[in-house]
Amino acid sequence: MPSFCTEYIYRSNLETVIDNESAMAHPSTSISTPAKTETLPVLISGASFAGLATAFWMTRLGHRVTIIETAEGLRRGGTPVDIEGETIDILGRMGLFDAVRARALPPRNFAFKDEHDTTLGELTAASPAEDQTMARYEIHRDDLLDILFASLDGAVDLRFGRSIRQLRQGPDDVCVTLNDGSHHRYALVFGCDGNRSNTRSLVFDNADAASYYMGGYFYLRVVPETGLLPPNCTQVFSQPGLTAMLNGYDDRTDIALAFRSEQQIDYDFRDKAQQRQLILDHFERLGWKVPAMLKHVAVEGDFYFDQANQIRIKAWSKGRVALVGDAGYCVSPVAGMGGSMALIGAARLADALQQQPDDHAAAFRDYEDGLRPFVEAVQERAATEGMSTLFPADDRELEERNRKILEREIDL
Ligand SMILES: Cc1cc2nc3c(=O)[nH]c(=O)nc-3n(C[C@H](O)[C@H](O)[C@H](O)COP(=O)(O)OP(=O)(O)OC[C@H]3O[C@@H](n4cnc5c(N)ncnc54)[C@H](O)[C@@H]3O)c2cc1C
Repeated sequence: MPSFCTEYIYRSNLETVIDNESAMAHPSTSISTPAKTETLPVLISGASFAGLATAFWMTRLGHRVTIIETAEGLRRGGTPVDIEGETIDILGRMGLFDAVRARALPPRNFAFKDEHDTTLGELTAASPAEDQTMARYEIHRDDLLDILFASLDGAVDLRFGRSIRQLRQGPDDVCVTLNDGSHHRYALVFGCDGNRSNTRSLVFDNADAASYYMGGYFYLRVVPETGLLPPNCTQVFSQPGLTAMLNGYDDRTDIALAFRSEQQIDYDFRDKAQQRQLILDHFERLGWKVPAMLKHVAVEGDFYFDQANQIRIKAWSKGRVALVGDAGYCVSPVAGMGGSMALIGAARLADALQQQPDDHAAAFRDYEDGLRPFVEAVQERAATEGMSTLFPADDRELEERNRKILEREIDL
């Protein structure tokens, strides 16, 4: 079960979309050897899944790749990533699937609990299927980052502590000024800098309007194993507007807390103490294992706090700049597919550029036309069914969610 939540709720309904999309839009090309294209200087902003995977494919296309990352190293932490379907195929084409499978986590059970810790319903995880088309793996976020990073094998120029300050597009190239004051020219620029993408803000008009607020906030902290639950399982406890979730592994526990809020909250995203207090205030009266969870919230340490949002932007590219992953089409942690969407996006973009090496505009169009219907289907389901199932807002949604659990309408 990936990220904050799980994609199991979407699987049955999305299978058709995935199948149709793959058949229609996913080209059968495979970039296994460098293509005979002109070598272009390419800039990638962001060194997470989208950035590292895009870099992998661009070097395979024969381009000269620079990655800039605002942090001083790869940004670690977060919940595991789900690997299945097209993502397995893509990792296979990248030659990375065996490495991923070797670090895959054991299958995890998923239990919905009430305040007395009674199990309302349980979903038992299947063992990895023999048939690879049905298989599903989960891997720690950091392990996948390391695998992607190692795959670049020093073939890219990676600069930490850098971001784009200014970007000007000309007919033949993009003139970029970095935060260290240096100027550079690139043939193509890829914004892989996440949900709050700097590239998106610099290139697209009205970029802030691209963020679609889903009506809630979530907190996540990974701590050493707590003993709050057995390893290899997830437990969820919901009250109207409040959800607490624990993911248990052999060596660590994910503490996840989410609250609903119709209005967006005005807070300083740099003020960690304020964010911790927001969580403490919302959850202070909740039972179950929440008091023990809040002990981890109360102390300082790395955590992830953000609103549940999606990026819905009219076009994923402008001129010589294209967005990949969360920067262009964040599906939200509720969808549980952020990591795989970034890997799929990078591969689809590379396929499109391989097919149209001399026409980046046509390639960017094909990339978007092929992937957008799938992204929109995932976003729609996460914003409706995903939110009401995982974070029921009120008594009615909670009742309906519990009915579905009892009648086994939620399937793993
Ligand atoms: C530390 C961390 C923890 C996360 N934990 C979870 C989680 O628990 N659950 C979940 O569902 N999702 C989580 N995510 C988001 C998840 O990784 C993404 O949804 C998904 O992997 C898509 O990947 P991405 O590469 O598009 O975006 P991201 O993984 O968000 O990566 C964006 C990268 O761009 C970098 N960046 C940002 N601004 C700039 C800039 N101005 N210049 C250069 N680089 C920049 C960031 O530092 C980051 O490395 C986390 C992301 C991060 C960075």
